[in-house]
Amino acid sequence: MKTGAAGIELAVDWLKNCKFLFVLTGAGVSKESGIPTFRDALEGLWANYNPEELATPQGFKKNPSLVWQWYDSRRDKVKEVEPNPGHFALVEIQKIVPNFFLVTQNVDGLHIRAGSTDVVEIHGNISRFKCFDKHHEQADVPGGLKEPPKCDCGSLIRPDVVWFGEAMPEKLLRSSFAAAEKADLALVVGTSGLVQPAASLPFVAKQNGARIIEVNPNRTELTDSCDLFLEGPSGMVLPEIVEKLRR
Ligand SMILES: [Zn+2]
Repeated sequence: MKTGAAGIELAVDWLKNCKFLFVLTGAGVSKESGIPTFRDALEGLWANYNPEELATPQGFKKNPSLVWQWYDSRRDKVKEVEPNPGHFALVEIQKIVPNFFLVTQNVDGLHIRAGSTDVVEIHGNISRFKCFDKHHEQADVPGGLKEPPKCDCGSLIRPDVVWFGEAMPEKLLRSSFAAAEKADLALVVGTSGLVQPAASLPFVAKQNGARIIEVNPNRTELTDSCDLFLEGPSGMVLPEIVEKLRR
């Protein structure tokens, strides 16, 4: 495994020759935009609650208005922030490599706001909604409500995110694993590589012959399995790569 300043040059070289780039991003990328991780956000008014109460189907059934208000506050936070240079660098990389597949564990939609296209939001998006019982999609749900509104079918409306204990959308999972198999290069950014099944995606790529580049401020569970570890925030490392890619 390689690290350090020469690493950037190596990453640029690999990206220049890459035919299919698979990218996985996680909470670290959002954090650089000022979005606290789920657990870090449990502060102030929310300090006495736990993820089981706020982000599970059982929690929603037990106290729908509490869960609704929690996600409403998370959405307000997302509206206050902007995509960071790491998000924008990924938009540029998508334009340069022949095939590009981006999977994010983040639910804030910042990749899409930055301009990335065909983003696979494997944990959903807090600004999209569906009904609890039948998963009917909902448009135009206003902010600031104290209670979840109801779908035409009578079911309560919930955020279209994957809660703890819920399965990820089958179709997205299948296309993500298929892309990981096809990739000859995988870029893993800002994720600790702990949340399954997304965490196994880089390993699937590796088993199928891809090289793995990890970009993270700190070493993670994944680091020892990587071909290249670029230590630092994605908002610094990725723009540097883009700048050299363009030359
Ligand atoms: Zn419905």
